[in-house]
Amino acid sequence: MPEALLSKQLAELQQQNAYRTRQALEGPQGVEVTQNNKPYISFCSNDYLGLANDPRVCAATIDAINRYGVGTGASQLISGYTTIHSELEQQLAKFLNYPRCILFSSGYLANLGVIASFANKDSVVVEDKLNHASLIDAAKYAGAKLKRYRHRDIEHAERVISSESNESGLLVTDGVFSMEGSIAPLKKLVKLKYDNQYKLIVDDAHGIGVLGKHGKGSIESENLPSSQIDVLIGTFGKSFGASGAFVLSNDDNIEYLIQKARTLIYTTAPPAALAAAAQKSLDIIINEPERRQRLQNNIQYFRDCAKHTSLNLLDSVTAIQSLIIGDNNKTLAYSHELKNKGLLVLAIRPPTVAQNTSRLRITLCSEHTHQHIDRLVSALITIEKNIH
Ligand code: PMP
Repeated sequence: MPEALLSKQLAELQQQNAYRTRQALEGPQGVEVTQNNKPYISFCSNDYLGLANDPRVCAATIDAINRYGVGTGASQLISGYTTIHSELEQQLAKFLNYPRCILFSSGYLANLGVIASFANKDSVVVEDKLNHASLIDAAKYAGAKLKRYRHRDIEHAERVISSESNESGLLVTDGVFSMEGSIAPLKKLVKLKYDNQYKLIVDDAHGIGVLGKHGKGSIESENLPSSQIDVLIGTFGKSFGASGAFVLSNDDNIEYLIQKARTLIYTTAPPAALAAAAQKSLDIIINEPERRQRLQNNIQYFRDCAKHTSLNLLDSVTAIQSLIIGDNNKTLAYSHELKNKGLLVLAIRPPTVAQNTSRLRITLCSEHTHQHIDRLVSALITIEKNIH
């Protein structure tokens, strides 16, 4: 792209209040963070269970560095795969009741690798309109025909599928939608995939660890046997408080990914220390259900506090609570005012969300206190009265 066009586009983004910037934290993730020497209560991290800086997770990571070093030196298929990776894969497969598991370096790469392995130019990939960007990008990267149905609208999905005559089809959904907090109608999607002989792929990045009595995610909360979801994808960047991703499926599918997934084959294996962090987090997810309980309690408390106000919250029972503002400018002003009051809540704008649905994406964590939530709700009410 010519430099002049690039500068013009940057200027346009600024004019539209769609320009994005990064703000550096001066320390670890947590509900209390520091930026520019000022303390803030953070409501924008996906560290739902407060594990990103848990001393046990940190100690397991450091211990693994002492035993395995930092870098993995090569792809998993060359010499980057270690016994920690292998153990973690087996533990995840057991926890989520799948025959086999494989690790990827990130959720984005896992989604690209999975969809481009199971779909090609002769396939149709049918997706919920509000699926995560990586799933939409994945269908394009696969060169498949991408068709999208209205959010959670199974009748529309049915019509989309019946209008297609491709040889093979994938039905792809988020388990918990990252910008809405809504939950996919998995039972109905399972029926649809059987009726049409599609493969069903669920990205449960925001569900695993958090939803269900045992933290097994959307599948557990919907009471579905894992055998009904062909491929389940999870990430370590959210409830696990680390980084990386995993894919669960039957032996053949995982073996096929090892042979075909370019985002696995042609990238350096994730550090063994991160696998060790995820291992410790998995242990905590299994053995400390009280974290999920505290998160659930915080979600309920927040919803109760917001109920008698005019705050325009989306209907969500998950840790993702979005307040729709609409206009970019106004959403930024809200975020700015919250920051002035010591509260970090980011403005989410297009293209991450649809035009005119800019929002504050509030994420709740097990470590928030009711006082933190009181502060947020009362700040939102004050700002709403003063912003027009
Ligand atoms: N899927 C969903 C639903 C997500 O929200 C995200 C991250 N925001 C990803 C995949 C990508 O995961 P990662 O950050 O590990 O690349």
